[in-house]
Amino acid sequence: MSPIKFNFENKNVVITGGAQGIGFEVAKHFLQAGATVTVADFSPAALEITSRELGHFKTLKAVTLDVTNRKSCTDLADGIPGNLHILVNNAGITRDKSLVKMSDDEFDQVIATNLTGVYNVTKTLLSKFDPQAPKRIINMASIVALYGNFGQTNYVAAKAGVIGMTKTWARELGKKGFTSNAIAPGFIATKMTQAMPKEVLEGLAAKVPVGRLGATSDIAAACLFLASDSASYINGAVLSVDGGLVM
Ligand code: NDP
Repeated sequence: MSPIKFNFENKNVVITGGAQGIGFEVAKHFLQAGATVTVADFSPAALEITSRELGHFKTLKAVTLDVTNRKSCTDLADGIPGNLHILVNNAGITRDKSLVKMSDDEFDQVIATNLTGVYNVTKTLLSKFDPQAPKRIINMASIVALYGNFGQTNYVAAKAGVIGMTKTWARELGKKGFTSNAIAPGFIATKMTQAMPKEVLEGLAAKVPVGRLGATSDIAAACLFLASDSASYINGAVLSVDGGLVM
């Protein structure tokens, strides 16, 4: 099946955690659709690979960012070329342990990156959005925020918080030309899920009604749709992209 064709020429996109996994694929899709894309990521090695693999797109900019560091977010804002139209808050980490075994540091790290990081970036970039054009905030949540998950107190708390912020921004910013939506991916094949044992992943795939784990392109397609003009009346939604795992 050929993908839906979107046109994001003259649109300025920022993707956090955009140098690997889902974020990388989202960046590639936006670039292919003509957007100017700033990939902002923690990992210099991954940014280097991104610049090499996507460098033929002249509208790519790859910059270092630590979403937990507000000065780093300000530097990101200062470096954005022109007005911003689309922000994809995608950076995230896992530090999985059962509640009994989880250290305070593991809890704090995940909250700092996956929840406070989304606040830091959005708050800092808010004034960079184009006052004259439609504006999009897309936050990467997770289906585990909808039903809880063994070993993920920190991660589930952060992602549930992201959904709460998404809905709050949908209310606060809707009349200012923004939509704010979240995507709740199911289990997607990236390095984040590669950290899980093979048997667990096979067991998960078997439980998905469509019979497979998700691909990064499944999430990128949803992201481009939510960013498009076709989605201008979708606001405050949590779009599950999980093959029907959570219904
Ligand atoms: P990856 O680990 O493949 O990529 C995440 C990227 O974010 C990495 O390049 C990582 O850099 C970067 N990053 C981590 N911390 C920071 C930081 N403080 N500031 C800036 N960038 C940072 O993850 P995925 O592609 O799998 O996940 C992307 C998003 O989707 C995450 O929010 C995740 O929670 C969510 N998600 C993923 C699912 C999955 O099955 N894969 C399912 C549901 C949700 P580094 O490698 O240096 O840490």
